[in-house]
Amino acid sequence: MDKRVTRTTAETRPDGHAVVAGAGIGGLLAARVLTETFGRVTVIDRDGLPGHGVPRRGIPQGHHAHGLLSRGSEILEDLFPGLTADLVAAGATLCDIQNDVRWYNDGRRLRPAPSRLRGINVSRPGLEASLLSRVAALPGVTILERREVVEPITGAGGAVTGVRLAGPGHEPEDLPADLVVNATGRGNRGTEWLRRLGYEPAPEERVDSRLVYVSREYRRRPGDADFVSIIVGHTASVPRGGVALSGEGDRWLVTLFGMGDDVPPVDPDGYHRFAARLPVPDLHHLLEHLEPLTAPRLMRIPVSIRRRYERLDRFPEGYLVFGDALCQFNPSYGQGMTVAACEAAALRECLADGSAGLARRFFERAARIIDVPWDMSVGGDLRFPSVEGPRTPRTRLLNRYISRLHVAAEADPVVGNAFLSVANLQAPPQRLMSPGVLARVLRPRAGRATVEPRLTAEERIPA
Ligand SMILES: Cc1cc2nc3c(=O)[nH]c(=O)nc-3n(C[C@H](O)[C@H](O)[C@H](O)COP(=O)(O)OP(=O)(O)OC[C@H]3O[C@@H](n4cnc5c(N)ncnc54)[C@H](O)[C@@H]3O)c2cc1C
Repeated sequence: MDKRVTRTTAETRPDGHAVVAGAGIGGLLAARVLTETFGRVTVIDRDGLPGHGVPRRGIPQGHHAHGLLSRGSEILEDLFPGLTADLVAAGATLCDIQNDVRWYNDGRRLRPAPSRLRGINVSRPGLEASLLSRVAALPGVTILERREVVEPITGAGGAVTGVRLAGPGHEPEDLPADLVVNATGRGNRGTEWLRRLGYEPAPEERVDSRLVYVSREYRRRPGDADFVSIIVGHTASVPRGGVALSGEGDRWLVTLFGMGDDVPPVDPDGYHRFAARLPVPDLHHLLEHLEPLTAPRLMRIPVSIRRRYERLDRFPEGYLVFGDALCQFNPSYGQGMTVAACEAAALRECLADGSAGLARRFFERAARIIDVPWDMSVGGDLRFPSVEGPRTPRTRLLNRYISRLHVAAEADPVVGNAFLSVANLQAPPQRLMSPGVLARVLRPRAGRATVEPRLTAEERIPA
């Protein structure tokens, strides 16, 4: 796994102008690295950007728990030195992901132990506000809010040469640019934009998990819990899960989630009853003595989509697709922001090698970044009988192995560390199969018969 994040830009274009459509986490990270090459960078969002940590219309996920993987925190700190300290000063909490977070996988508690996996609990709006103020302060950056990117525009030769803008109180106008980055998130119109420019759309891979999040904030007081966060993963037999993250404003942000027809209700009593039906009781116990501050709020996240731009034969020069517009993950694995951070590091490397063939080089690198988290999240989703998708013998075998690994991680912190390092994108998935980890996972354990994970009929395959 390539761990480099810093590289000096070889080619700078002081007169060049880059436009980023979308001022979410993806757009802001792209803008940050673009300032190393382009003299001017304009970030455009159709929302008003409040600049402090409150959710906004274009980011409905801002109301819901966001975990930043340790690989993501590392890259953010590299791009914005001092960011972590500032977030903590603003109320975010730092943690050792293995030692301070209470983790349940398959209903089994991962044994805590000191580790090098650093995490930071910060709300999605809190992180965005901090990144926005830092990006806005960079030389050459302009932030245009309440302006919509209607579509990219092209010039002679078919290259993208800017964007068409609209917005309340503004005449439609064309803004010229040498590079346009589409970071407009889940609702992006990238497919339609390509069609209009005369290109084939990117092939898509989709997994429909019919996931529903319902989230609520609670007051946080000293002594509430002996953990900074709790993560209760859904299991194949109990497809309900939840997390509680301690964050800014002395609050717990609690997200409960379910799939298909078994989803958290939005009425407060039903919400608590749903928490009582999670695979383990700890999160429900925490909620029992917390004071709610907001009403439960629902978001449907039906489908994960990966767009394979790297497979297109033709793609316009001067245009890139980034972040969720490139790949939107099942959020329960907490990968989207970290993948956007990895893409920013990759874009920096690609820009350092010049502008020729930039889109092809970037999409190829981004595809390699996305491969691992996409396989993890799709593989995880396919454990649930309600999720449609091809279950190859390899998928089934891997899922059986992972279930067994969770059993081992209950007692063995080395196995737990291997799992968390891979899940946090700090180690390649092969680490889970390395001889040292494999031997520990397959080692017979006392009481095995009572702790063997429950497999669904779907998952039970002949040995
Ligand atoms: C419920 C939920 C929970 C999640 N939990 C996690 C988690 O735990 N960990 C994690 O890492 N990730 C999580 N994610 C994913 C994470 O939110 C995104 O991956 C991350 O924010 C990067 O998204 P983005 O910047 O590409 O897109 P977005 O955050 O969606 O931003 C897109 C921006 O583009 C703007 N926009 C859209 N269209 C236009 C237009 N035409 N013109 C101008 N502006 C436009 C929007 O207003 C918005 O500001 C979660 C997602 C969801 C839905």
